[in-house]
Amino acid sequence: ASGYSMMRDPRYNKGLAFTEKERDAHYLRGLLPPAISSQELQEKKLMHNMRQYQVPLQRYMAMMDLQERNERLFYKLLIDNVEELLPVVYTPTVGEACQKYGSIFRRSQGLYISLKEKGKIIEVLKNWPEKNIQVIVVTDGERILGLGDLGCQCLPITIDVGTNNEKMLNDEFYIGLKQRRATGQEYADLLHEFMCAVKQNYGEKILIQFEDFANHNAFELLSKYRTTHLVFNDDIQGTASVVLAGLVAALKLAGGALSEHTFLFLGAGEAGTGIAELIALEMSKQMKVPVEETRKKIWLVDSKGLIVSSRKESLQHFKKPWAHEHEPVKELLDAVKAIKPTVLIGSSGAGSTFTKDVVEAMASFNEKPVILALSNPTSQSECTAEEAYTWTKGRAIFASGSPFEPVEYDGKVFVPGQANNAYIFPGLGLGLVMSGAIRVHDEMLLAASEALAGEVTEEIFDKGLIYPPFSSIRKISAQIAAKVAAKVYELGLATRLPRPENLVKYAESCMYSPVYRCYR
Ligand code: NAP
Ligand code: MN
Repeated sequence: ASGYSMMRDPRYNKGLAFTEKERDAHYLRGLLPPAISSQELQEKKLMHNMRQYQVPLQRYMAMMDLQERNERLFYKLLIDNVEELLPVVYTPTVGEACQKYGSIFRRSQGLYISLKEKGKIIEVLKNWPEKNIQVIVVTDGERILGLGDLGCQCLPITIDVGTNNEKMLNDEFYIGLKQRRATGQEYADLLHEFMCAVKQNYGEKILIQFEDFANHNAFELLSKYRTTHLVFNDDIQGTASVVLAGLVAALKLAGGALSEHTFLFLGAGEAGTGIAELIALEMSKQMKVPVEETRKKIWLVDSKGLIVSSRKESLQHFKKPWAHEHEPVKELLDAVKAIKPTVLIGSSGAGSTFTKDVVEAMASFNEKPVILALSNPTSQSECTAEEAYTWTKGRAIFASGSPFEPVEYDGKVFVPGQANNAYIFPGLGLGLVMSGAIRVHDEMLLAASEALAGEVTEEIFDKGLIYPPFSSIRKISAQIAAKVAAKVYELGLATRLPRPENLVKYAESCMYSPVYRCYR
């Protein structure tokens, strides 16, 4: 390729890092100023520039610009500064970016498949320049973080069936279809065409990650396609896996086996019931009793109150297993007092719902109450880290979905953990892809969970943390990938044969390296 087009292609561009030899070999002489920079120096400059922006959304846009300009530098920067940059490209800032996407939209990224493309999805897939695709992340944008229906937004593949969000429908800069959401058969048909086209185009081993679908579609899509495609739903299964890992670690601090604890959830949707089911499954494995038994230790509250058997008839399908014998309870506070949970988990998407009364009640009958405020972004968090620590007088074991700064209470510094599926999906995806898995099984999510919990060292525990630092995400992901892959082989669902001897090493060797290549 000519140097000029290399410079303009984000996959090849190195900016000032093109060497003298490359400048000679690729007709770049004169197209660049004379200085030659290393990738490290470019990183230093970018981080310096990034820190000048006070407004988080500006940082987000600067990152997106970089991705469009120089892909390797973008990923290198992200990997080397993950703790600082994850809140920019991921929760919470990405939430704001999604809400304002029409206004900040510059260049299309990923694929958009709308109702207009009905009947031609396979052709749309063929328009994508890369042929060797291993993972697809797909959304229909109906439940973005805890922010609801944001219509057509940016993800590698967005299925656009319209939006019911009035703000988007009335926004002149909105980039999606301006119509109400298609539902029922029309929706199912488009999704089915998509699922079939993907498999037809990329084969059996393409991994499809469902992301931020509303729960009335999410559970159905998952159960419909898990037997025919390699799929997982990150919000149901990824969340479950990361939370179970955190709980296993938290219980080392709080004491007692999983089965000796009682769990109460606020929010009985994808996250809540997904986590509940994986906890029940793990308990049932540990105690060798049926999952129907272990579910009884887990209670959920939705917008109508505690889920109890008298509500069973009117409950959505995915809530029914959690309708236990109990009198109706409307308020969370009363549910907490009635159930006396040792672990309280927020998965409602409704902010500030763990009130002072609720948290104090938890602290009144638990020496070390475990409180997880999972809802994203920060504005939707059930309580803040500071509230959790002060209201429990420093006794809470706390983690949240979006990051919080460390809190000082009573002369002690508390570092809240981030219970976020970002710990799981990279390693899970890698484990599935590298083993050539053809189906996802719950056992693989348990394996991922176990691997993550295994990364919490004594040193991390001593700080009161229940997750390892994000800065070691690549090491963590290799461990998760290896454990997941081992399970894939064990279950006979692997097609990459023979099985590599050392799965951790193999996982590491499969990872992307953002270091610049040499063009000769
Ligand atoms: P979802 O499927 O829509 O479920 C939300 C649930 O919360 C529903 O059961 C709903 O009740 C209930 N709810 C909503 N407002 C409530 C209120 N004020 N009081 C009591 N219950 C209320 O959503 P989801 O996928 O589970 O996600 C929920 C939240 O979890 C989001 O904020 C999301 O960002 C977060 N999340 C975090 C992670 C993480 O890694 N930390 C992962 C996934 C999701 P009804 O059923 O009665 O409507
Ligand atoms: Mn999600």
